[in-house]
Amino acid sequence: MRNKVLQQLPQERIKNFFEVALGYSQEQAEEEAKRCLQCKDPFCIKGCPVEIDIPIFIRLIQEGKRREALEKIKEKNNLPAVCGRVCPQEDQCEAVCVLHKKKIPINIGALERYAADYELVHSPQSTVHRENKPSTVDRGLSTKIAVVGSGPAGLTCAADLAKMGYQVTLFESLHLPGGVLVYGIPEFRLPKQIVHNEVEYIKGLGVELKTDTLIGNTYTIGDLFEKGFKAIFIGVGAGLPQFLGIPGENLDRVYSANEFLTRVNLMKAYKFPEYATPINIGKKVVVIGGGNVAFDCARVALRLGREVTLVYRRTENEMPARKEEVQNAKDEGLPFKVLTQPIKIIGDEKGFVKGLECLKMELGDPDESGRRRPIPIKASNFILDVDTVIVAIGQNPNPLLPKVMPNLKTREDGTIVVNENFMTSLPGIFAGGDIISGADTVISAMGAGKKAAVAIDSYIKNKVKV
Ligand code: FAD
Repeated sequence: MRNKVLQQLPQERIKNFFEVALGYSQEQAEEEAKRCLQCKDPFCIKGCPVEIDIPIFIRLIQEGKRREALEKIKEKNNLPAVCGRVCPQEDQCEAVCVLHKKKIPINIGALERYAADYELVHSPQSTVHRENKPSTVDRGLSTKIAVVGSGPAGLTCAADLAKMGYQVTLFESLHLPGGVLVYGIPEFRLPKQIVHNEVEYIKGLGVELKTDTLIGNTYTIGDLFEKGFKAIFIGVGAGLPQFLGIPGENLDRVYSANEFLTRVNLMKAYKFPEYATPINIGKKVVVIGGGNVAFDCARVALRLGREVTLVYRRTENEMPARKEEVQNAKDEGLPFKVLTQPIKIIGDEKGFVKGLECLKMELGDPDESGRRRPIPIKASNFILDVDTVIVAIGQNPNPLLPKVMPNLKTREDGTIVVNENFMTSLPGIFAGGDIISGADTVISAMGAGKKAAVAIDSYIKNKVKV
């Protein structure tokens, strides 16, 4: 049997923003670690985009060597407490675990979180590696690298370059670093103190952080080269909201998921009046979408005490959200209205939302994504009685940098084109994360940041005289 992770009870947790999953106790973690078969040729490592040596760190946990386990993880992953919480392990390392055949893979995510949390709780000021941090001054290396965007891609690239001995400056447009980890994913899935601690570790490696700095506006990429940066990594993510293009989207109390989550997480609307930045939503909220973002919005609205419905045009089987999060939402009592396509947002005489007109759908043949295509059922219109609409149907790449860099090659969807070394069409300018792939996952953004750091190192050594 796989050891279950303790959780806050649903009836309690929908009244607060504290973390839902409580993690393993030492006993549970060691028991779970004992289930690992310690394969000679482990598939799990290949399933991890940053190739953590999973069997070894699990063996160390089993032996009670928590610090050593974390050291092993940190050789490859600079954000273990984050990844242990939000990575879709079920599609990656756990999906290829040999025990998956028996439908009970090792709970690798929970073990990673256990190792990371132990260190944070027991010696929050130290954290593994900080004592061994490379000092750029001591080692006489002065090559400056700029990293733009402090999401998982930028943080990883910056940390790895700092470990190699570069002088790294991380530029972030918002007032806090972390990207989606701070403005998107809610507190109850990823406490902001965890992100803060991981960022502090990266700063401890020697990375200089400059927040409130919008590259492409405050400074151009040209300015950065003039300031002496020899290479630049762009990790600006996919934060441009998509809308449905239906009538009524300009009404009051229609939010993009991005705006809604940013107001609640980053601006701390859920702590009003302690924070003087409330959010203006009504009593009956509908969230449109079936991905992680839609579920985050719906579960936030539930915790704000609203009546919430999630509307999705396919069925639960086709929902792209993590299964664990779908189950958590169900346990919290979130109703789903599946096979439902919104076609019009209805407003009142003052310009506020007063309803959502929808069509019922049925599933046809699979489309290019492999999921069965939703087809409208004629004359099946009905109106949902709601006063707030949150649109969570996807995000596009942030358009500012491509717009102000006309020679930067991009695709039609706005993603930046890179070669196999993560270099863009402009020499010395690299990119990775959601800005090259479109909206994806934390760990794939980290994988790109890692590979780009290696490529930048090689570029500097081969092309630039230090
Ligand atoms: P981002 O995290 O978007 O970071 C980009 C950073 O660049 C931001 O801080 C932004 O402010 C900054 N920036 C943008 N433009 C500029 C500029 N011109 N100058 C300076 N800074 C700039 N993935 C998972 O694996 N598991 C999950 O559970 C999960 N849940 C999610 C929930 C939500 C609500 C969302 C929105 C996404 C979720 N994802 C999840 C996806 C995941 O968070 C992203 O794939 C990942 O954060 C992408 O990392 P990134 O570094 O490329 O970009």
